[in-house]
Amino acid sequence: MTARVLVVDDLEPNVKLLEAKLRAEYFDVLGAYSGKQAVERAISDQPDIILLDVMMPGMDGFEACRQIKATPETMHIPVVMVTALDQQADRVAGLEAGADDFLSKPVEDLALFARVRSLTRLKMMTDELRARYATGKGLGVVDNIDVSMEIDEARVFIIDDNEEQSDRLKKAIGDDCAVDSELDPEVALSRARSGDFDLIIINMSLEAMDPLRLCSSIRSFEETRLTPILAVVRQGDTRKLVRALDIGVNDYLTRPVDKDELTARVSTQLRRKRYVDQLRSSFQASLEMAVTDQLTGLYNRRYLASHMAAMFDRAYWTGRPLSVMVLDIDHFKRVNDTYGHDAGDRVLQEFAERLSRSVRGIDLACRYGGEEFLIAMPDTDMAFAAVVAERLRQEIATSKFVINGGRDEIAITVSVGIASTENGPADDSAQKLIKRADDALYEAKTGGRNRVINSAA
Ligand code: GH3
Ligand code: MG
Ligand code: MG
Repeated sequence: MTARVLVVDDLEPNVKLLEAKLRAEYFDVLGAYSGKQAVERAISDQPDIILLDVMMPGMDGFEACRQIKATPETMHIPVVMVTALDQQADRVAGLEAGADDFLSKPVEDLALFARVRSLTRLKMMTDELRARYATGKGLGVVDNIDVSMEIDEARVFIIDDNEEQSDRLKKAIGDDCAVDSELDPEVALSRARSGDFDLIIINMSLEAMDPLRLCSSIRSFEETRLTPILAVVRQGDTRKLVRALDIGVNDYLTRPVDKDELTARVSTQLRRKRYVDQLRSSFQASLEMAVTDQLTGLYNRRYLASHMAAMFDRAYWTGRPLSVMVLDIDHFKRVNDTYGHDAGDRVLQEFAERLSRSVRGIDLACRYGGEEFLIAMPDTDMAFAAVVAERLRQEIATSKFVINGGRDEIAITVSVGIASTENGPADDSAQKLIKRADDALYEAKTGGRNRVINSAA
């Protein structure tokens, strides 16, 4: 795996040193020599990770980090602070500025490479989601996501077979999140899968189970594949830490655990989880929107086009009939002309609701055009389709449509054409099936409207 690393330090030899180490591991390296330049290059070069010196004249590393994390184009890029000071207060200040981790100078190679690899791998997972989100946004079907991201109501799960330690962690996290804990790692594993947690904290000195195995199991289950893991490691246990990061642990703390650092790292993980969740759900929403008609909530024509082909193929291979009905509201133009376009919209919505109520779950109901609808019914022969269509016609004709908040009632009728694969030609296709239903509908219109015509008739 290769990645683009932006190294920032006001002293050129420091940049050159890190650059040489990273290049030897086949990373692409860019340099910046001030906080201001770091912010600019982050935007223009979109690196996969930024190694940021803390002490620089002018804009220092904390401020640069804050700006990078506050800019929509760069907020997703992981930042590692590189600091000469091993002061706890500085670590916390950095985490609060949005930094993802710290490395102390002189930088230890093993820790450096493990951290760069792990953070860039995590970033690549969100990059895919970000790209889809951007597409949805470009299409105008996705809302902005909220970057402030409240982290209350988050659910944290502590796995630690040392009860005293587990309680101390729980207390340190405080009341902002709901914290659960489990002493038995085997039990913890199944609780993790069913618990829908936002963050799992694991003591890497577990005795009842190999903690690395526990982490990799959590990573391998579908339900917890993306749940952030925060590992608590003994100071100086670099080997275990490096393994943990390579397995997919998101972040770590060293013991003895500093309360402020814990809170800062927990909230970084929760914020990122929230961000990824929002990207995913907004993409889901955009997908749904792309195949759904906005006014009626039925599937749109685009969805029908791709789905009908599959329905038709299935009917062909199973030898079971597929029937289609096309419905067109009678004299709908008059509704608009008499009551206005908004009332017309209301009628279309009510029409769609009645339609949805009358079809089975396996049927596909869609808005085919303005006031034209289509229902595809698998496993349905012509005779049964005619019964459904007639029931639907009556359902529309017998109870009036209420509009303008109850002030007006309109009588609506619908004409329906039906076709089935049952009596189709040898070279039948989804398109031909729809065409036959359309022709039957035309007959229903010319025959006087408010009626059902079978294409076989
Ligand atoms: P027919 O019985 O022959 O089907 O007559 P019709 O008036 O229903 O058919 P026509 O195709 O002449 O007119 C359809 C009308 O539907 C015209 C168009 O303005 C209206 N329409 C199409 N889409 C919408 C919509 O989304 N909202 C509203 N309110 N009207 C729509
Ligand atoms: Mg019409
Ligand atoms: Mg029409």
